[in-house]
Amino acid sequence: MEMLTDREEAREAGHVHYQGKICKRDHDGIRYVVSNICVICMKDATKKHYDKNPYVDRTPEQKQKIVEQTEKWRLTHLDDIAEYQKEYHNTYAKTEEGIAARRAASQRYEAKLKLIRNQNESNT
Ligand SMILES: [Zn+2]
Repeated sequence: MEMLTDREEAREAGHVHYQGKICKRDHDGIRYVVSNICVICMKDATKKHYDKNPYVDRTPEQKQKIVEQTEKWRLTHLDDIAEYQKEYHNTYAKTEEGIAARRAASQRYEAKLKLIRNQNESNT
């Protein structure tokens, strides 16, 4: 795909990137249309973030800890969650898409729980 040099033009053409000004750190000037951020700077920032907060390659223990933290959070925010769910049920959940998405999500959740339970049992 041809690299456009005008951000607005690139946006209208539906491009993700465009050839903009060379950035503060002397990268080649290829930027995201949506944010106007240099692609290389963005990659560096993302990498830095992931190095600090590794979401990938978690151990089962780390995953379990996250599940426990989430549960702890849930128990302390029951009112907020109920409110959110009420709103959700009154809108998106009533559409066909919402119903399908909810079904898929609950299946994924069940599968995850099952996996965690099995891991717990085999660990003890
Ligand atoms: Zn840059």
